[in-house]
Amino acid sequence: MIIVLQAGSTDAEVTDVCNRITAMGYRPHTIRGELRTVIGAIGDDRDKDDLRTLESLECVESVKPILQPFKLASREVRPSPTVVVVGGAAEGEPSQTNPNEPVRNSGTRIAASRSPVEVGGTRIVIMAGPCSVESRSQVLEVAQKVKAAGATVLRGGAFKPRTSPYAFQGLEEEGLKLLAEARRETGLPVVTEVMEPDKVEVVAAHADILQVGARNVQNFSLLRRVAECGKPVLLKRGMATSIQEFLLSAEYILTGGNPHVILCERGIRTFETSTRFTLDLNAVPVMKRLSHLPVMVDPSHGTGYWEYVEPMARAAIACGADGLLIEVHPRPAEALSDGPQSLKPDRFATLMTGLRRLAEALDRTI
Ligand code: PEP
Ligand code: MN
Repeated sequence: MIIVLQAGSTDAEVTDVCNRITAMGYRPHTIRGELRTVIGAIGDDRDKDDLRTLESLECVESVKPILQPFKLASREVRPSPTVVVVGGAAEGEPSQTNPNEPVRNSGTRIAASRSPVEVGGTRIVIMAGPCSVESRSQVLEVAQKVKAAGATVLRGGAFKPRTSPYAFQGLEEEGLKLLAEARRETGLPVVTEVMEPDKVEVVAAHADILQVGARNVQNFSLLRRVAECGKPVLLKRGMATSIQEFLLSAEYILTGGNPHVILCERGIRTFETSTRFTLDLNAVPVMKRLSHLPVMVDPSHGTGYWEYVEPMARAAIACGADGLLIEVHPRPAEALSDGPQSLKPDRFATLMTGLRRLAEALDRTI
């Protein structure tokens, strides 16, 4: 249920309503809007009509049911869009993310300065980098190049979910350290995948955004763990997950106490075999209508072929995506994973030039 307070309600009134909600066995979730405060009462809906008694309080305007099964992810609870703030550390600041990293220059880290990146605002966010972190030189080269082309977040997998157990599984913790080094060199915050609950701590120590991949979208123990860690989470839609199921997965993270969730459409399985997956761009306006969470699109996995990445990247921006996740490799033919869908850095730079013009036409920036 949503408890809508009268405009101008005081902090004491908000606290009083929250206490009453708690006493009735629900969890209050307060959202302060510009005009008024609403409080979501989250919990088992069976006796939810009890909450209607709150309507008798003077500070309560109305008590309404939340119609969608996903509650905190729903626009009903929060009509204004959520902006997820990522990264941001000043030059020379001691790392807060990994106290175990070796410290250079008597306790001061040499780091490119970082300003926070906002996902879900007017600026379109481009996250780019290799599918897998393969070596120090590869990740540093690609990080410099995607940064020069205008990307604001570096992607790269250290733990890789591979279909075959014989395929390259990623550099694991060594890969995380290389990503952290690339962040120090470029100032770009880092997004990387976490596959197991037990690894959340180590990944969170190195990454600015934890990616939960398509294959783990309904790994509920992983969702609960990333909720506890509090860092921004890039949640990818599963290849056979409906939008409702996807938003319910996001709900696990939100209700676990982590509001920093970014949704990512990355293609679903259909009967079509000309592309690796079918990029479901319908999902962008649908999810933006149903949810306040930012929505990104991954045209690399969504198509599986570098030739289609550029047109589908443009289409994603045109239909309202808040950002793109794009695979870039200095030598795609030698890539240890997803070479066929990876752009070379110069093509990525050309793509960015075209996207800037498109963004301008849409009254947005990149
Ligand atoms: C990836 O981003 O490299 C990846 C494995 O993505 P997905 O989970 O969407 O397949
Ligand atoms: Mn990949």
